[in-house]
Amino acid sequence: MNTKKFDPPKTCTDASAQANFASLGREGQPDWDIVEFDVFCSRCAYNLRALSKPRCPECGLQFDWHVVLDEAARHSDFLFEHNWETRPILSWWTTFRRSFRPIRFWNNVSIHDRVCPGPLWFMLGVSIVLFFVVLHGTALCSWIILDHIYDNLYPVPWRFGPGPPPTLELVIAELEDIAQAPVLLGSKYLLALTSIMSFLLAMLAVPCSLWQTLGKCRVRTVQILRTVAYMLPPAFVLCSWVILCFIILMGLVRFDNPMHDFVFAFSFIFAVTLIPAFYVGTGLKRYLQLPRAYFVAVVTSIIALLFLMSTNVIMAAVLRSLW
Ligand SMILES: [Zn+2]
Repeated sequence: MNTKKFDPPKTCTDASAQANFASLGREGQPDWDIVEFDVFCSRCAYNLRALSKPRCPECGLQFDWHVVLDEAARHSDFLFEHNWETRPILSWWTTFRRSFRPIRFWNNVSIHDRVCPGPLWFMLGVSIVLFFVVLHGTALCSWIILDHIYDNLYPVPWRFGPGPPPTLELVIAELEDIAQAPVLLGSKYLLALTSIMSFLLAMLAVPCSLWQTLGKCRVRTVQILRTVAYMLPPAFVLCSWVILCFIILMGLVRFDNPMHDFVFAFSFIFAVTLIPAFYVGTGLKRYLQLPRAYFVAVVTSIIALLFLMSTNVIMAAVLRSLW
């Protein structure tokens, strides 16, 4: 009798039993009279006990009995969550570097790989730090380099030669402001931190609530966590560069036509929505093999952005009332 459960899957820990079931798997379907533990679907946690065909009746996931029954096969050789105890920095860097190419990344991660939530939450926390470090770090490095070039090209007094272009001075001033923002804004910088945290939590919560859209497939929360935890770091890094470019452009360009302001704002929102949507959508499609993955990812990203804006407004009001 199949029973529907959504608890985290229990896996076989007895090495000899695993070996037995691995050999049984090679013969074909498992002998359930010998199997002493429950086996759950990796995507939806449906109890697969007593099934003969390697296909989940709940979510339709096709699988291989060898992989599902053999816990040893559920280990990735590069993922941070499986290697953080033995080589934390190297495995984090390898995972982060590979995540910039999401299609290739998910081709190397199996849905049956054991999920460890702790390291995944750590990856999410690091992605927030990464966003601010890359944003302000890039601004700081660009500011130092451009300032150095400026000093070499236009040594004081430059009034004897051609003066520096005003655009270059404006860009340097913008970069200086962004680089020093955490120090200059002080506690008001909390706004940025809480806003991005609300964005991140919405990116996690929305796909879990859109299971009707995902072909009525109730996906395990830890699988959504894994998808988001590996896809947000590269998305945040790219978003920080896009935001940096738009802030500089905003300082440089003065639009006379209000329509141009609107187009500029729309392009900005489009860019910062599309980048996380592409990364998370690729994870939902390639890794979780879900239908309408990119549609769900775009909706998730838009809702998350609305969450971010709402949090910003609420927190600004709270901070104003406090000070
Ligand atoms: Zn399933």
